[in-house]
Amino acid sequence: MKKATYFLILTFLLVFLTATPSNAQTRRTKPRQPTQEELDKQKAQQDALANLGSGKLDTESEIGNASGFHGLVRGGLKGFQITAENAKKAGLNVIDSPRLLLVTDLPIDEDLQKWGLYLDQATMQFAEYFNVPSYQVASWKIRACVMKDNVPFMMNDLLPDGLPPFDYGFQYGNNVWLYAQESRDYQRHLFLHECTHAFMNQVLKGCGSLWFGEGLAEYFGTHRIENGRLTMGVMPRSRNEFPHWGRIRFIQNDLQNGVFVPLNEFFTTELKSQDNRSYAWAWALVWMMNSQPQYKAILQRLAVVEQGKNYAQRAQNVNKMFRESFTDDQWRQFSTQWEAFISDLEYGLNPEFCRIEDAPSVTPLNKQSFQTIRSDKDWQNVGVGVEKGKKYSIKAMGEYSVCAGEKTWPCEPNGITIRYFRQKPLGALLAAIVTPNDGENSQLEGFNKPIVVGNSVQFTAPQSGALWFKINRLPNVTPADGSVIKIIIEDIP
Ligand SMILES: [Zn+2]
Repeated sequence: MKKATYFLILTFLLVFLTATPSNAQTRRTKPRQPTQEELDKQKAQQDALANLGSGKLDTESEIGNASGFHGLVRGGLKGFQITAENAKKAGLNVIDSPRLLLVTDLPIDEDLQKWGLYLDQATMQFAEYFNVPSYQVASWKIRACVMKDNVPFMMNDLLPDGLPPFDYGFQYGNNVWLYAQESRDYQRHLFLHECTHAFMNQVLKGCGSLWFGEGLAEYFGTHRIENGRLTMGVMPRSRNEFPHWGRIRFIQNDLQNGVFVPLNEFFTTELKSQDNRSYAWAWALVWMMNSQPQYKAILQRLAVVEQGKNYAQRAQNVNKMFRESFTDDQWRQFSTQWEAFISDLEYGLNPEFCRIEDAPSVTPLNKQSFQTIRSDKDWQNVGVGVEKGKKYSIKAMGEYSVCAGEKTWPCEPNGITIRYFRQKPLGALLAAIVTPNDGENSQLEGFNKPIVVGNSVQFTAPQSGALWFKINRLPNVTPADGSVIKIIIEDIP
């Protein structure tokens, strides 16, 4: 590129940095046909990928993490330096702040301009979550490339030799690369996702196993910005609030197709594939755990576990410690909680809503049992066992209120039949027969296929298990009252 051009870009940048966003000048590298030299370089990258293979790795200097790709980089990545100088050589836009050096072929808009500030907030939140003293991360800095067309990055030593192809983002050391996304929010999501990997790899010295590292990266990546304040680890309020994110939809589609990922699968087989669908499951597990203090503490302990010599060792250590954080009884309880959470999962889910209450023990029904549940809690185990193929009757009485959008309605166990949630009357009393399991069960039946009890119901138990009850409530509202509902369970000879 000619000197005059550099000068021009430099001028643009200076103008930009002192200008208001409305008159800012921007530059964009247009996609074009690559030259032979560029094609050769691409080919070399692909060849380098072949070395990654699935065989044993003898040396491993750092781990790369990506959305859509997770791989080990043999011998480390070389031949790159994300610097303002290289960016200028490439004619790219640069923002340099204490926390972030950003290089991009996108026009620098108001959003990108604030990424340094967002990363600053994110760093403080990472430090707090992972219990790292803030002085330790005072000078932690990320170098990031946001690319529409990767060619100018590749040709100017901004993309490393041997970087495996990736669809969304990639992290290596304190460097991250992202492809530009249609949705600004999703683009920022990927940025925070990769920054989480960078923080864990660089500051905590390891990401742990795949579900763990990706789950946390997805958790922190799912964020909201309100009045310039970044909040990570949020539950999206609606599908429209998080375009292109789709994690809840992946899980709901899986459930509709009879696919459920039981807890054991996370750490015995690792994530089966590294696509957005498996990331969705890892996100869900980490979100659920972070929503309850006793499980959150486990994640926090795992993040600083002895990381071992290499990736496989790290993954093993984390997975082993994960399981060992629970007694067998606690593991069964956790597994039941996971089933209830996945069945309840909806946009806007209130964390208060997804805490189940287990009974200390379950006794098989002997003719008749009187029980009570609360209308403001999620699934409650009343400690009554039923047997597959046997007939039962349940009657219920109580008055409580149920929220339907703006309005609160008085309600009885039949529910309000003018409003529905998941094809069942809002406010209706539901029952689930749940078989205790130790995290192996890949069929989600009980919570996912509840019986509408209403004022009364008769049914034949499709499986043996304990009876759980709850009110069919919208998942995003905090119930106004906690009235008691009386339940009579009887067997029918
Ligand atoms: Zn990742």
